[in-house]
Amino acid sequence: MADSHGLKNIMEDLVFEKLEEIMTKLASCQCENCKMDSAAYALNHLPPKYVVSDRGELISRTQYMDKGQYEMDVTMAVINGVSKVMEHPRHDD
Ligand SMILES: [Zn+2]
Repeated sequence: MADSHGLKNIMEDLVFEKLEEIMTKLASCQCENCKMDSAAYALNHLPPKYVVSDRGELISRTQYMDKGQYEMDVTMAVINGVSKVMEHPRHDD
């Protein structure tokens, strides 16, 4: 998925890390559709955070993760996204 060089939005990683945990907590549908819809919603409500993906990634990411406020923002955005998708899933079961 990630290129060896180039820009990477680490928000995507943060959102996907939280996604499974929150979907499990909220007992939401965990099909691929609902996962992607929830992730898209969350990412649309978070500012992108780009790092250079060769060698910059780990360092920037560690610094980034130290800041608890972002973790809270990501958690809230994912909770909102999962909740929205639970209300209006793109399938009927
Ligand atoms: Zn689903």
